[in-house]
Amino acid sequence: MSLQEKVARAAQLIRQSHHMVAFTGAGHSTPSGIPDFRSPESGLWEKYNPMLVASVWAFRLDPKTFYDWVRPLVDTMLNAAPNPAHLALAELEEMGYLKVIITQNIDNLHQRAGSRRVLELHGHMREATCIRCYKQVPVDPMIEQFIRDGRVPHCECGGVLKPDVILFGEQLPIRVLNQAMEEARRCDLILVAGSSLEVAPAGDIPYLAVEHGARAIVVNIQPTAFDCRAEVVIHGDVADVLPCLLEAVLRTEEDGNSFCRSTAPAI
Ligand code: ZN
Repeated sequence: MSLQEKVARAAQLIRQSHHMVAFTGAGHSTPSGIPDFRSPESGLWEKYNPMLVASVWAFRLDPKTFYDWVRPLVDTMLNAAPNPAHLALAELEEMGYLKVIITQNIDNLHQRAGSRRVLELHGHMREATCIRCYKQVPVDPMIEQFIRDGRVPHCECGGVLKPDVILFGEQLPIRVLNQAMEEARRCDLILVAGSSLEVAPAGDIPYLAVEHGARAIVVNIQPTAFDCRAEVVIHGDVADVLPCLLEAVLRTEEDGNSFCRSTAPAI
C-alpha cells in the first residue's frame, strides 16, 4: 500500500468507528521539542541516568539531584507548544470521532491543544504532593522561581514536594489505569501515535484493545512490536501524518455529505 492508500484506509477506519481511542507516547511530543527522556540519544542522559535520578528511591534519598536533572526538562515543557499532531487529535475529538486520549506524556500539550478527555498514565506536572504530609499543591505558583534558582520546593510542613508524575519504580495511578483499561476494552478502534509501546504496563493497553476486538492504526517513526496487530501501519512523524489523516477524514466526510445530498429524494 502506498502512503496515500494507507492514509485513506486509516481515514475510512476512523469514519466507520463508533468509539475511537488514541494512545500517545513520547514520539507525539518530540516534534514540539520535548526530548524522550527514556532515549539515551535525548541528551538528558549526558550527566545523569534518568533511570537512577528519576526513580522514586533516588527522589527520596536525594531530591536535589532529581530537581537538577528535571529543571531543563520542565523549562522545555513550559516553553513548548502543541504540534500539528496534538491539534489533529483535538479536532478529531471535536468532530466526535475520538472519545479519549490515553497518554504516557506528562507535558499537558494535549490539553493545551484543546483535547478535553485525556487520561495521563504517567501523571502530570500541574500539581505536586508533599512526601511527608501528602498535601497536594498546585505547581504554578512555584514553577517560575524553581526554573530561576533551582531550589527544591518544600511544603509548609517542611517536607519535600514531589511533582505528581510517576517516577521509575512507582505504580501507575490506579484510577487512571482502570479507566484506560476500560476504554481499551470498550473501543472499536485504537490509534497508536508516537509510542513504541515499550514501557509496561502502559504499553499493554493497545494489545488489550485488539484482544477485545478493536481495530488498530499505528503511526510511529520506528517499527513497533505491535505493528503486526494493526490494520494500518504508517512509519512517519506524527506531526506530518496526523494532519494528513485528519484532512482525509474531513474529505471523506464532505464526499459522504455531497453523496447524501445528491441522492436524497427531492421532496
Ligand atoms: Zn507537607
